[in-house]
Parts: sequence; structure tokens; C-alpha cells
Amino acid sequence: MEFMLHTVARLKAGVNLASVSIAESYFRRWPDVLVHADHVPVFMLHRFSTPDGRITGHEPALLRTALEFLREHNFVTLSLDELCERSMNGTVPPRAVSFTIDDGYAEQGAVGAELFLQYDCPVTFFLATGFIDGWFWLLEAKVAYLFAQLTPGTQLTIANVTRRMDPTDLRAMRLARRAFVNELKGMPIASAIDRLDQVACALGIELPQSPPENFAPLSWSDARRLEARGVSFGAHTVRHVTLARENDATALEELEESTARVRAELSNPSNVFCYPTGRSGDYGAREKQFVQQLAYTAAVSAEPGYVVVPAVTQAPFDLRRFSFPDTLVGFKDIVLQSCRMREQIRRRFQKARP
Ligand SMILES: [Zn+2]
Repeated sequence: MEFMLHTVARLKAGVNLASVSIAESYFRRWPDVLVHADHVPVFMLHRFSTPDGRITGHEPALLRTALEFLREHNFVTLSLDELCERSMNGTVPPRAVSFTIDDGYAEQGAVGAELFLQYDCPVTFFLATGFIDGWFWLLEAKVAYLFAQLTPGTQLTIANVTRRMDPTDLRAMRLARRAFVNELKGMPIASAIDRLDQVACALGIELPQSPPENFAPLSWSDARRLEARGVSFGAHTVRHVTLARENDATALEELEESTARVRAELSNPSNVFCYPTGRSGDYGAREKQFVQQLAYTAAVSAEPGYVVVPAVTQAPFDLRRFSFPDTLVGFKDIVLQSCRMREQIRRRFQKARP
């Protein structure tokens, strides 16, 4: 109580609680008040930067510093399956944190998994199994490949807006690429593949049958080697489809086949499913029911937020995750629950207003 009053007083005085130095000083004084066992951050990571600069993504040095911070401050890193099991039997320790890596690119194993292993930190991969099987490469990767081939002045119509591409304007290129990926994510996979092929064809760009090295997948033998060292793997559909855009048969087939592939190739597959794209409109009651039918205990989305421990038992097929931040400040903010604290204080103020 004293803590809350003190915090509210500081907020009234205009102190910005986003400052990590404040969050950290509170954490030292009231560690158990600030970091609750019932709100657990689960982080979602994607591509990793490689030392040769060919791939850009999460910086290994930042992840290393984040894992060192957790170790220094006695955080407990749990695998997602362990988090779910311990939530069900009420034994989640305070300061629990969990990590996941989506899709199954080769460098996620070579760079990402190796880093987590160095810190004895559990991590769960979610694999798009058609990608790992080698007959499908991810649409997002194809779009990145296509954009890398664009020449100055190319016209591209995305979501009914025609843009003139300038490869030297990195920000505009990034925004256009994101808009194109979002357009494709909003379609059933068959239409998205057609649309992408048409665009590539109109631009005279040939998309290779298999992914170039920068977009190559992990192999099943890579996955088995990592599994033997403690890394977990779960399913993420076959072709990384936006499930809610598909008809019943395709949605179920994507779930069943990816689950069967992961269960056939690995000895201890995760009992948690991961919805591709994972925004709240990308899956719904139908998907949750399919996931349940396939004997999963839980499923994760890409909606930002903590896993609230009672919710694991009440709504296990809707667990939230945070994107792994670009800065250490952003990471500390989430693990120290400063963002949750701000939310609580905001609510308290709203209630207090006449
Ligand atoms: Zn994904």
C-alpha cells in the first residue's frame, strides 16, 4: 500500500514512470511487490542478426545482456510448457519469464538457440512445418526477397495505393514491404500465393523454388540435435497461414498436418500451439476448438501482454506474448512490469476522477 501511495504521489508530481532507473530502484526496494508470480512475460523472437551481416534481426549482444540481467536479478526462466503446467498446479515462482522463437529459420538455431543454451535458458521454437520440410518458403521471406530485387522507379500497387519505389529510401521501402505483407496476411494462403506470383511476374522477378540461403529453414536433424540439448519445438501450421482467413477444411488440415509432422519428427514436442500472425482477428473460436481437439494444453498469440496465471486455466488458448524489444530499456520495462504498474495507476486515477 505504501508502495502504491508513494508511486501515485510521484506520478502526480509528474515523474515519468517509463524511466527504467525508477522501475529498477522500486524493484530493489520492493522486489516481490513489483514482480508478481501471476503476471509472466513470454517473449516472442523472430530473425537474428548474423555476424556476416547477411541477415538482420535481433542483436545477439542485446539478447545476451537481457539474459545476463535476468540471471543477475534471480529471474526464473521456464519453458512455455513448464509455465503452463506450473500455472495449472499453482507453482509458478515469482520472477518467471519465458521465451519463444517463431517460424524455424536456420539462423534462429545457429545464433538464437545457441545463445539461449549458453545461458541455460529454456526456449520453445514454433515451426511452420512445410518450410522445415523444404517444399514451401514463407511469404514474408518471399516479399523481402522481391523487395531486395526492386530497381529505382518501379511502380508497385499495394492495398490499392500505387507507390514509386526508391531503394535508397529505406524507411519508405520498409513501410511498403510491411503494407504488402499485411495485405497478404489478410488473404487465404492460396490467394496470397497467387497475388505474390502475379506481382513478381509483372515486375519480371523470378522467385526461386527453394529459399535462398538468407531465408533457409532449420532442418529436422538440426531441430533434433537442439531438442537433445533441451530446446523445445511446437507447431505453427504448415504454410504459416492466417487461420481465420481459411475455410474449415484448410484451417483444420493446417493444424492437423503441422501437429503430426512435429509429433513424428521430434521426441518431446511442445503441448502448446502457436497461431501464425497471431493478432486477435487472425484466429477465433473455431481455431481454439481445433487446437483443443488436437490435445494441446494451450496456445499462444502475438497480442502483446502478460500471461496471467489464472487465465492459463480459464482461457488457455489465448495466451499473450511480447515481441522481444529492440532496447534493453524496453526489455527491463516488461520484465520489471513497469508497463503493468503504469496501467494499474492509470486505472486507479480514472476511478478516482469524479
Ligand atoms: Zn510466425
